[in-house]
Amino acid sequence: MMMNFVYLFATVGLIQGLKFMGDPARAKVGNMLAAASVVLALVAVVVATGWAGSTNLILLIVLLAVGTLIGRTWSNRVAMTAMPQLVSIFNALGGACAVVLGLNEVYGTGTVVESKLLGSVLILTNLFGGAAFTGSMVAYLKLDGRKLPRPAQIHKVLARTLLVVLLVGLVYYIAMPVDPSIYPALLLGISVAALAYGVFLTLPIGGADMPVLISLLNALTGVATLMAGLLFHDPVMIIGGILVGATGILLTLQMCSAMNRSLAGVLAGKIVSGKSTASEADQDIRSISAVETASLLAFSKQVAVVPGYGMAVSQAQRECFALQEMLKESGVDLHFIIHPVAGRMPGHMNVLLAEANIPYESVLEMSEVNNTMEHYDTVLVIGANDVVNPAAENDADSPIYGMPIIRAYKAKQVIVMKRSMAKGYSGVVNTLFDRQNCKVLFGDAKESLSAIITELKRI
Ligand code: NDP
Repeated sequence: MMMNFVYLFATVGLIQGLKFMGDPARAKVGNMLAAASVVLALVAVVVATGWAGSTNLILLIVLLAVGTLIGRTWSNRVAMTAMPQLVSIFNALGGACAVVLGLNEVYGTGTVVESKLLGSVLILTNLFGGAAFTGSMVAYLKLDGRKLPRPAQIHKVLARTLLVVLLVGLVYYIAMPVDPSIYPALLLGISVAALAYGVFLTLPIGGADMPVLISLLNALTGVATLMAGLLFHDPVMIIGGILVGATGILLTLQMCSAMNRSLAGVLAGKIVSGKSTASEADQDIRSISAVETASLLAFSKQVAVVPGYGMAVSQAQRECFALQEMLKESGVDLHFIIHPVAGRMPGHMNVLLAEANIPYESVLEMSEVNNTMEHYDTVLVIGANDVVNPAAENDADSPIYGMPIIRAYKAKQVIVMKRSMAKGYSGVVNTLFDRQNCKVLFGDAKESLSAIITELKRI
């Protein structure tokens, strides 16, 4: 009875912690509360299993200490721009844990699996966990810009074949009488197939479809945790798994609709034809200086900032806030328009802007303003590229074709801040850059913004 109360307490703490994480001001407290709740649940497990004073407890404490140390050092050292990669690795570790727990149940503790229910839960744990583990590792390598085999048709064929093998294996186990002695081999086979499936599912997906894949992989880890929770009758794992799995699935569907993609289409993996007609050589780029940009802004009434991955790289969010404050003093309205896949992880831009205390009411969704973009006198595109590329609307051969973009090109004047003519994540030429109303302010975004602010102070 007492233990149930402790579990309930830990569960409520975990849910509240996750809720706090949705609010930038309370996110840190939320993180601590969720971590403390998990530790409380672990203490409850130790008491309930009578581990107190045993070598298992010592092992648990040592592993917790080592894990905490590695996690802490890693998080402290990682650059803010490498956060999406770190999140992918953490997600991969969640999947890996589920696979190890599942295999340990059969190979480590030697449980003879006679119940179909237990057997099915174990298979699902390893199926979701395996795919999430290797899928997230490949996503990590992609986000980190590592060299990987080029997306190819064979990857899609292998992914689909493995998915069929996994489903047949599961249905066969549920429907047919299976001798418990062959269950370990079946579980091992399904685990290996799931690990391979994660790799071939992720390899051919890229560009505009990556965000959908990343939220799907989060959802898979959530479902794997839920299954492992069912296996161990652990309410904290079950509820944590349900929350992560359900929010992950909702986010995946939201991303799909924001990107104008179907989930099945993304999972099928679009192999890019590479026949897009846009070419850098044909582009006539006009550059602009920070001083000219400042006077353009000073004479504007409505200004919008479209932040992208480059703002995260240069950590220019505080300069964005300073610019907003400065323009407010001269009666210029500045909005931030956020594309759902800007940056390298869901909510990337919202987190950065919240960190710089930019008021929520000035942060707008793409859908709120896309039909009225012509009202903006100046749009500053700060380190964004793919999310403002008109090729998504008018070049059917482009890998980003069909993805809704922020229609910055409709504004009276567009200034793009970037360091060079390098392409965005999807590697596509941006047809915005040579439009008549567009100029490029070359340089690091933070430095360019500082120069603009200095000039505005002078004006
Ligand atoms: P992009 O990757 O399209 O473009 C980023 C731009 O920032 C580049 O043009 C780069 O040009 C510029 N840049 C980089 N560093 C700096 C700097 N220090 N100062 C100024 N500019 C800089 O970013 P977007 O945000 O527009 O688009 C996101 C892309 O990432 C989409 O394709 C999306 O599908 C993908 N993606 C998104 C995920 C998500 O969950 N949000 C996950 C995985 C992928 P230059 O080098 O010349 O400066």
